[in-house]
Amino acid sequence: MNFTIQNVLIPVTDSYTTTNIQVVNGKIAAIATNLDVIGQAIDGTNKLLLPGFFNAHTHSSEMWLRGMVSMYPLELWLAELYDFAPLDVEKVYLSALGTAAETLLSGGTSVVDHLVLIPGQELETIATAVRAYKEVGIRAFIAPLIQDESLIAGMPSGGSQPRQESYFRSTGETLAIIEEAVQQFHCPEGGVNILVAPTGIQLCTDALFTGCIELSNRYNLCRHSHLLETKAQEKLAQEKYGCTAVAHLEEIGYLSDRTSLAHCVWLTDNDINILARTKSTVVHNPLSNLRLGSGIAPVLKYLQAGVNVTFGCDGASSNDSQDLLEAIKIGSILHNITDFDYQNWITPRKAIEMAALGGATGLNIANQLGSLEVGKAADLVMYDLTNLSLLPRTDPIGLLVLGRTTNAVHSAWVKGREIVSNGQLTTLNVDELKQELFQRSQWENKGQSPNAKKIEPHYRKVMDLSN
Ligand SMILES: [Zn+2]
Repeated sequence: MNFTIQNVLIPVTDSYTTTNIQVVNGKIAAIATNLDVIGQAIDGTNKLLLPGFFNAHTHSSEMWLRGMVSMYPLELWLAELYDFAPLDVEKVYLSALGTAAETLLSGGTSVVDHLVLIPGQELETIATAVRAYKEVGIRAFIAPLIQDESLIAGMPSGGSQPRQESYFRSTGETLAIIEEAVQQFHCPEGGVNILVAPTGIQLCTDALFTGCIELSNRYNLCRHSHLLETKAQEKLAQEKYGCTAVAHLEEIGYLSDRTSLAHCVWLTDNDINILARTKSTVVHNPLSNLRLGSGIAPVLKYLQAGVNVTFGCDGASSNDSQDLLEAIKIGSILHNITDFDYQNWITPRKAIEMAALGGATGLNIANQLGSLEVGKAADLVMYDLTNLSLLPRTDPIGLLVLGRTTNAVHSAWVKGREIVSNGQLTTLNVDELKQELFQRSQWENKGQSPNAKKIEPHYRKVMDLSN
């Protein structure tokens, strides 16, 4: 549908201007002060228009465990998650709807869902997420999370005999599932993209990475993985490869301008140069890194080296929400304590550029998305500047990023389709969703999981923690 937003505030170099924007056939057709109304006229008075942000790394089904997993580092947290996450496809559907809704209502118009697959129902899981995201209308980048090693392989052995347990599905079968998903669901024009997404070096063999590279090349797919999220993974990489994980991934050809890597906390300066050279993208998940005690990603170093960086919420049980503006705020100001030179700090304007254009760059579509430019797709978010959290009137982007913005998204469009209007989703009955989420859950505290308890002594030993 075509429309014209009138009298809306947009950022220009170091300032703002009030203007009109025409959207025709899903694209920004013109931006100027004197424009005829094409299609519907939309009042932009006292509103700020920005390109939609990317929630560039999450796991939607973790919504079912938010607020519940113990205060653990990743390796133990993951063991508990596995124990407490009995999923069914209906839950996958509802949590994808919830993730889309929360992303949209905090400024995101795209989501990268590193989707946990139900064993034995892998394609059904992917189909369900596709259905949910299509219904809501958010731009979806579904990255089916795959591995071909069992959880125990994800921990450094610390010199003891590495423990091997075979994974329940072969590497070839896993790759065949992904190829089938690509053939059935990958449709960038329709707003649904499938990515190859080996979870990370900690649980994947080179055969799986190589198979993913091959699929990525054959079908022109983006690549998405976790990378060096924890100190334990740094140790594991040395045990496994005798070099850093980044050096190894470069060697096998996984890094590229369509590779995005979540976390990147434990990289060396040389690793950072490799990411810059290969044009790989870092997805910064500050809340998850804090919650799991993973560390502070050296984001200022990435930016100085010319590495593209964008933001993700990460799954809702390591965050424990999907508030993208919150991730952008913490992900920006967190780094001020890592560098006394304030000239290197991330400004609010830089933060929104990272969240929008940085996200598009990481998915190799910066020529189509991520900024207010004629010819780009109309993935837009309009914020109500009369919202209490954005008053009194000062610098709108400063307020948005540094403040505690609540319920300020007035409208959102994906490819010119309005999916949030007057603060409400137009494509989803949120009250019904709330009821479903309420009825399928209960107030509880599950306590320590058996799996976490089992691996805890080994974890404490290899991480040099006293017993
Ligand atoms: Zn993750």
